Amino acid sequence: IQADGNVKAGALALDANVAQVAAEAGIAGLEFFSGIPGTIGGALRMNAGCYGSETKDVLVSCEALDRQGRLHTFTPDDLHMTYRHIELPDDYIFVSAIFRGQKDNPENVLARMAEIKSKREASQPIREKTGGSTFANPPAEDIAKAGLPEGTKVWQLIDMVGGRGLKIGGAVMSEKHCNFMINEGGATAADLEALGEEIRKRVDERFGITLRWEIKRIGEP
Ligand SMILES: Cc1cc2nc3c(=O)[nH]c(=O)nc-3n(C[C@H](O)[C@H](O)[C@H](O)COP(=O)(O)OP(=O)(O)OC[C@H]3O[C@@H](n4cnc5c(N)ncnc54)[C@H](O)[C@@H]3O)c2cc1C
Repeated sequence: IQADGNVKAGALALDANVAQVAAEAGIAGLEFFSGIPGTIGGALRMNAGCYGSETKDVLVSCEALDRQGRLHTFTPDDLHMTYRHIELPDDYIFVSAIFRGQKDNPENVLARMAEIKSKREASQPIREKTGGSTFANPPAEDIAKAGLPEGTKVWQLIDMVGGRGLKIGGAVMSEKHCNFMINEGGATAADLEALGEEIRKRVDERFGITLRWEIKRIGEP
């Protein structure tokens, strides 16, 4: 915790630990990190966020190494951070970040974190084998073009095309939150990708919307 209330974290720190340390020190603004499973490095790369806040909103600056070992400092503007996306070559490695915090009473901050936790427990299958949200919410213009109500979320599209509970091999779209793909046990990468692609096909056919995978896929299934 810095004298000005900002919080410096290494890229390997867990988001949840950063939120907890900040909360106990009476620093508000980083509560949303408590709900994101992963590290600060992953949060920077994904511009991770939840419940109305995302990494770019609180990021002051971050440091990353390039393949030649040179250290670079970036602001959110430098990285053109948008919804679950940043612009930086894949081979840059984040090493640390400074986040903006505001002074608050630790009890208030901890209470907000507890609220996030209970919301998640109630609405997401967080105890299952899952990678979290499978697809990003489509841009507002795609939703408007499809004639859908403003603010329609990707889980609603998946639901409308019969995706909730849809299963291929050991892979299933969660009954609890149908944008979460679950490995029920023994799902292969091919099962998971085929299920995701089936959802994308159905949503494209019905609404003309091309869903963007939020889960990063590596290699060939
Ligand atoms: C149950 C569940 C719920 C989730 N809920 C949310 C949510 O609400 N909001 C949300 O945004 N995400 C959510 N996620 C997705 C995931 O938690 C986030 O994307 C998280 O930021 C990933 O962090 P990680 O450290 O696990 O990174 P990884 O998943 O290991 O990697 C993600 C990407 O970041 C890159 N990366 C990781 N570390 C570094 C580094 N140091 N430097 C450069 N690149 C790096 C990787 O190469 C990869 O491209 C959820 C996932 C699960 C399983």
